[in-house]
Amino acid sequence: MESAIEIRDLTKSYGEVHALDGIDLDVPQGSFFGLLGPNGAGKTTFINILVGLVRKSGGDARVFGYDVEDDYREARDVIGLAPQEHNVDRFFPIHEILVHKAGYHGIPESEAKARADEVLKRVGIYDKRDTRFDWLSGGMKRRFMLARALITDPDLLILDEPTAGVDVQLRHELWETIIDLNERGTTILLTTHYIEEAERLCDEVAILDSGRILEVASPDELMDRGTDDIVIQLRD
Ligand code: ATP
Repeated sequence: MESAIEIRDLTKSYGEVHALDGIDLDVPQGSFFGLLGPNGAGKTTFINILVGLVRKSGGDARVFGYDVEDDYREARDVIGLAPQEHNVDRFFPIHEILVHKAGYHGIPESEAKARADEVLKRVGIYDKRDTRFDWLSGGMKRRFMLARALITDPDLLILDEPTAGVDVQLRHELWETIIDLNERGTTILLTTHYIEEAERLCDEVAILDSGRILEVASPDELMDRGTDDIVIQLRD
């Protein structure tokens, strides 16, 4: 079966800094895959290459068979990204932001409006559809960023620390939504600092450190193999 993400000898340097130093990785279709690593490990750089925000220095990166640079339009349409930062038009009503994003992906307006309603319901903030982004609470902003990632009905959903700094209740609610998406067939790539989040959600986890993959294993295997020192680093 074709991999959802297929990475071969991927490198990225910023001047002297080797943010990614020769990565090989296969993320199976339909899996819930975790990318763990301490600050500065290269997680965001990796994600930004997948979504076409950063150019790689070398190697190969494919998403559902599409080269992330040569076939960037096709790749862009199968990936949904919920980034850490809220890089949206904060003065606009959230429903409008979603319709605009759908239009950017070539989705006709009537369909875009219906999809926007659907994804806002899915994440539980439909009643806020006419509220501008910067008037949402922190937790609602998180939910909205997930809705925004879902507007194109992506095959691969990338979540960059989706529950960093949120309270326990919201964390569990977001987990439920994400698990449901995975059960419906969406492949998920999640970065997190919370080992318990990886244990709870992920089938497989890759540990990234200083731009290299140290291990790929199930969360249980990682614990058994005694990678506790890495895990402890991730906790802070
Ligand atoms: P965090 O968990 O803190 O978000 P990360 O694992 O996402 O960290 P990256 O943000 O990918 O790590 O950074 C990897 C390395 O590349 C770091 O040493 C960082 O300082 C460096 N880096 C990232 N972006 C740039 C840039 N635009 N210019 C120069 N160096 C960069």
